[in-house]
Amino acid sequence: MNQREEKDDIVRTQVLVVGAGPCGTTIANLLGVYGIETLLVDKAPEVVDFPRGVGVDDESLRVFQSAGLGEKVHADMIQNQLLRYFDSSGRYLVEIAPSAQPFGWPRRNSFLQPMLEKKLRAGLDRFDHVGLRVSHELLTLEQDDEGVTARLRDARGGEFTVRADYVVGADGGRSTVRKLVGATLEGATHGARWLVVDLKDSALHAPYAGNYISSTRPHVSIDLPFGYRRFEFRLAEHETDEEMLKPEAVERLIRRHFDWEGPMPGLERSRIYLHHSRVADRFRTGRVFLAGDAAHLQPPWFGQGMNSGIRDAANIAWKLAAVLAHGADDRILDTYHTERHGHAKAMVDLATTLGKIYSPKTKLGEHVRSLLLRASVRVPSARDYILQMKFKPMPFYKQGVVIHRQEDKNSPVGKMFIQPMVETEDGRRLRLDDAVGPWFAVIGVNIDPAEHLDEEAAAYWRSLGARLVRVNRSRAGRHLRSASDGTLLLDDAEGGLRDWHKGDRGREIVVVRPDRYLAAACGRDELNDLTRRFRHILPVREPASRT
Ligand SMILES: Cc1cc2nc3c(=O)[nH]c(=O)nc-3n(C[C@H](O)[C@H](O)[C@H](O)COP(=O)(O)OP(=O)(O)OC[C@H]3O[C@@H](n4cnc5c(N)ncnc54)[C@H](O)[C@@H]3O)c2cc1C
Repeated sequence: MNQREEKDDIVRTQVLVVGAGPCGTTIANLLGVYGIETLLVDKAPEVVDFPRGVGVDDESLRVFQSAGLGEKVHADMIQNQLLRYFDSSGRYLVEIAPSAQPFGWPRRNSFLQPMLEKKLRAGLDRFDHVGLRVSHELLTLEQDDEGVTARLRDARGGEFTVRADYVVGADGGRSTVRKLVGATLEGATHGARWLVVDLKDSALHAPYAGNYISSTRPHVSIDLPFGYRRFEFRLAEHETDEEMLKPEAVERLIRRHFDWEGPMPGLERSRIYLHHSRVADRFRTGRVFLAGDAAHLQPPWFGQGMNSGIRDAANIAWKLAAVLAHGADDRILDTYHTERHGHAKAMVDLATTLGKIYSPKTKLGEHVRSLLLRASVRVPSARDYILQMKFKPMPFYKQGVVIHRQEDKNSPVGKMFIQPMVETEDGRRLRLDDAVGPWFAVIGVNIDPAEHLDEEAAAYWRSLGARLVRVNRSRAGRHLRSASDGTLLLDDAEGGLRDWHKGDRGREIVVVRPDRYLAAACGRDELNDLTRRFRHILPVREPASRT
């Protein structure tokens, strides 16, 4: 155990993360990458083994990539999974199959949450400065100007104190941290109960995720890796939990709705859930932050609960590192709420609306939905909207650690930056993030940013630990490839940056944040001015030492 245990028996750490679910463990991995001393605690002895998350998106995979675990976790997933909609009689209506991979990963993937969580926890073994303590429960928190004092109970029932600069509560829907800081979860819990089961060795040949729209029994059937299959059925009021959790009842439901061949395998996991649409009123209270399910809960209709938590993880982790390792002003931590709250709410709202679409109240409603969905595939723009998942609200940070130029309405700033394939000087072909590293990058499209920085601006980016990068158009001549010492030279291997840039001089240089959102974009002549404005938003005190 590497956190500092001092004479007074107080464990000291820079960041205490409470809750080692996917969100907390991702935060701890990212803080590990950024060199921040972190203690992750969880009250349970093992990862939660209920049937939970099954769909992971490209944004989350990119975050796992930043944590150095992208390929490792992706290897366990059904990649690029189709989502199909059916009516209650099993008739096919429409399909969601986004083909583009703007962020470097397939947009829809199915996974087993316990398996993912184990891999994320194993990732922590890479860091001497990150500790994981399971069977450790947070009891209380108190904060003052210098830090937070937490009381925890260990596996043997003994209590001890942790003193941390900051605490992140990633302790799930019933969050103790949220209660301790007095934040309120606003929204509603829906009345209907849902039976959720995972079967192993599924005999169903249906290589996709299927949503069955129905006024009486909306249900879901999802192909999962390694022969598993997820079923979710809405229960009727008269059906009791006890009765419906019995294997015979599950078998009856499955056989009624699917052409199941052969005997039914045993239940791997099963549980009955209510759906919630709730968001915490504040994500920051002084030195304490809420992330993941502790901050927002949504029905699983769009498979975005965990994905929203992974976005939180990426957002808060680099900001804590900027403050703790680079002397950034603590006020940038306010932008965690500013940037994340609105988008988390938009995802909750979308999932709630989709739930209403999938569970019409009447047969007529069901019929209307089927007609509309079938009609939509005949209109190319509507088909494209559904097929390519364009209805998914993408984060767009209008305020926070971003600089928007008022005159540019189509600015890509505040959105996640694309991730094209690039080639290094020694011929290695990589995803952009792997080439530029996990921290800030100032990227010039066919130009070297270093050549356009004055001394003061160059010193700022050095202090922040930003990487200067020049990405050349693919296979450019030698005279077009020069860069100063210290600038990373890359080749736009497949023209991804060219297609994004479209020759726009206002996008010649971009500032990419560690969570891969675009903080700023400008032409070469504006770089020094932009740097001064950026320094105002993100002041740093001293040269970087850790990342
Ligand atoms: C049926 C279902 C289907 C879903 N499908 C999807 C999907 O397809 N895609 C998707 O993105 N999401 C999905 N989700 C949501 C997803 O499972 C959750 O959003 C995700 O698990 C939240 O992660 P978390 O790390 O925030 O919290 P959790 O995973 O809940 O982890 C919280 C951790 O905190 C610990 N803890 C709690 N209190 C304390 C304390 N006082 N001290 C110490 N430790 C504590 C707990 O033991 C737990 O390990 C689904 C959920 C359900 C129920």
